[in-house]
Order: sequence, then C-alpha cells, then structure tokens
Amino acid sequence: MTLRILVVGGGISGLAAARGLRVAGFRPEVVEELPATMAPGAGIYLPGNAARALRLLGLDAPLRPLGDLIFRQVFQDSAGRGLFEMDVAALWAGVGESRALARADLQQVLLTGVGGEVRYDTAVREMDLMDSAVKVEFGDGSVAEYDLVIGADGRRSTVRAKAGLGGAATPTGQVVYRSVVSGGPVLSDWTALLGDRSQFVAMPMGGRRLYVYADETAVAGTENPADPKARLRELFGGFGGCVPQILDVIEKVQVARTDEVVLDTPAQGSVLLVGDAAHATAPTLAQGAAMALEDAVVLGEVLKQSGGDVPAALASYQNRRRQRCDLVRERTRERDTTRDMAPAERDLMLRERGQEIFSDQYRELTEPF
Ligand SMILES: Cc1cc2nc3c(=O)[nH]c(=O)nc-3n(C[C@H](O)[C@H](O)[C@H](O)COP(=O)(O)OP(=O)(O)OC[C@H]3O[C@@H](n4cnc5c(N)ncnc54)[C@H](O)[C@@H]3O)c2cc1C
Repeated sequence: MTLRILVVGGGISGLAAARGLRVAGFRPEVVEELPATMAPGAGIYLPGNAARALRLLGLDAPLRPLGDLIFRQVFQDSAGRGLFEMDVAALWAGVGESRALARADLQQVLLTGVGGEVRYDTAVREMDLMDSAVKVEFGDGSVAEYDLVIGADGRRSTVRAKAGLGGAATPTGQVVYRSVVSGGPVLSDWTALLGDRSQFVAMPMGGRRLYVYADETAVAGTENPADPKARLRELFGGFGGCVPQILDVIEKVQVARTDEVVLDTPAQGSVLLVGDAAHATAPTLAQGAAMALEDAVVLGEVLKQSGGDVPAALASYQNRRRQRCDLVRERTRERDTTRDMAPAERDLMLRERGQEIFSDQYRELTEPF
C-alpha cells in the first residue's frame, strides 16, 4: 500500500509520527520550516508512559544512555520543608522508566529514528482539501498532492487553521522560566517547591547538570518579563531548600508562555492533527511529549490495521486517542487549580493527602492506550 503522506513539523510529534508510520511500513515525507541548525534548548521530563511509547516505536535503546532516571518526585513548601513524596518508580513500574534529559538529545533520537529524512527550511503555507487528497503549497511556491497530511506543527498550527479545525490556542496565563545549570547543588530527585501561584522545579538531567523549570500564574504586567533572570530572582529569591544555590549559578533563562488547544475533532478529510497542534496543555504534568509519542504509536497502528484506508484509520485513531488526551487536559487543570490554592491551605492538604492526590492524577495513564 503506497500512500503519499506528508508530516508537517519536525518537532517531537512530527518526528515521532514519521517514526510510527515508518514502523508500520509507510514512508512519509517530513517538512520543517526552521533550518536544520536549530536545536531545541532546555531539558525535558519524560514520565514512564513516554518511555513505553518510545519502546513501542523501537527507540528505547538509543534513549537509555541519555539523561538521568528519576525515581522520586519530592514536593516541598517554599521554605524547602517536605510536603510529600511520590515514588515514581513504583507508580510507573511495568510501564517505563521516568527520565529527565536534554531536549536536543531526545530530538536527536527521534531524528535518527526517521533516518534523518527531514526537509528543513520548508514551510506549509496553503492547503486545499479535496475529496480524498490534499493539495499542499510550500513556502517556495511549489505544490504537491498527498493522500494524508499529518499536522504536527505545534500549538500555533497552520495546518489546523488551513483545514478549518480550530482557531488560535488559548493562553493558560502561565509564564515558564527554564534553564540548564551546571555547578549547582547535587540533586538526585525531581524536586518542586510550591509558592504562591508559582513553583520552582529542579531535576538532574545527566552530565551533572540540573534542568530548572519554574513558573508563575501571570497577573497584569508580569506576562512579558523584560529581564527573565531578574524576574526569576524576584519570584524565588525568598525560597529555601535547593533554590538559593541554584539561583547563584543560573546563567541563561528561557521564557515561554503556555497555551491550551481544545478541538471538537483533530481530523478533517485527509488531514489529522497530532501533538500540541491537537491537544496542547500547560506542561504541569509533563505529558506533552508522552501524548505526542502515544499519538505516533496509534497513528502507525491504525493506518496499518486499516490497510491504508485513510478515513477508516482516522476514525479509529480518534476513538483511541480522544478520551486519553481529554484526561490529560482535565488532570492538568486540576493540578494547576491545586497549585494556585492559597499556600497555607494547600500545603496543609498536600501534607496529608498529596501523595494520593498527585499519584491518582497519573494512575489512568499507566494503563495501556
Ligand atoms: C515551557 C514548556 C515546558 C514543557 N515541558 C515538558 C516536559 O517536561 N515534558 C513533556 O512531555 N512536555 C513538555 N512540554 C510540552 C512539549 O514540549 C510538547 O508537547 C512537545 O514538544 C510536542 O510538541 P510538538 O512537536 O507537537 O510541537 P512543537 O514542538 O511546537 O513542534 C512543531 C514544529 O513544527 C514546525 N512548524 C510550525 N509551523 C510549520 C509549518 N507551517 N510548516 C512546517 N513546519 C512548521 C515548528 O518549527 C516546530 O519545529 C513543555 C512545553 C512547554 C511550552
């Protein structure tokens, strides 16, 4: 079955989708609007279900030497006093290991998984959805026709807009500060300190480096910090635990705002959205990559099972993915609501029941998908 498939976007979801399709016997083209020299910065935390999906994509071996395994998540109040701990090794037992690593390393694993076959500097500009095909116009004016177009072009997806699947993403109001630091304190656990509508998270990510992820729920005037490093100090300068030592060595800080994408359906004609283009959430549960990787596994499976029947495959895809992606969004919102409670009340509740509440938010994701 020779299907002409285009994957738009060479990020985690695009490369994973292309890998899933290759494993299933298809040979998609992948286009990415950025140049090949653009490597993602920062780190990424992959809970056990991401590892399971990577295993199903046949990419667990190259991942194994990378980053650091995470066995425990430790939650503290802003002074660094313990609230509760989550035994993530036990939570994801039999599913997969949880790991923090450089984003660039994950990207490289996925790129190798598609044989490096990505057409860079190539953007999709226009699409014409026909009966059983899609005509695509690229940035250089060239046009080609495909039997299936996979929109893996992120939360501000052009494919989503051109296929009439939905409008702009909705800002969550969170501002995220990320950094990779060397020479900070030695941490063996993923460690979060919860503040007042803010949190500071640090985790080992291999090479004796720490990946730092901090966020705040923005109020008027704080959405666009002019000096992210100064804002980080302003927000977390009074925190205890590992924070002062990390702030002392922090150099570059990347700032991002996060969005949600909620769609009635991710598919229209012969177009399917995957990853953030279909279901971006705030990264609170660190499920963005895992959902993109699971999307990729399911995409390959349904297309293979349907014998290349695109409408049947896309219907089956939606049956298998909708509930799970909705679940991640709901659990993310719940976690953010808890995070944003008044600290005194929240900390009291988390000391008593945090382990149970936070583990439950992941429990269903340990199930097969
Ligand atoms: C601050 C932050 C922290 C996060 N932390 C985590 C974490 O720890 N763990 C986790 O699992 N998830 C995390 N996530 C979420 C995770 O990064 C995403 O869910 C994941 O990267 C999937 O992204 P994607 O490939 O769908 O989209 P993107 O990463 O946005 O990739 C889309 C790609 O498409 C390309 N593109 C766009 N338009 C076009 C076009 N018209 N033509 C061609 N190419 C195009 C873009 O250049 C880009 O390379 C985080 C997200 C944020 C914002």
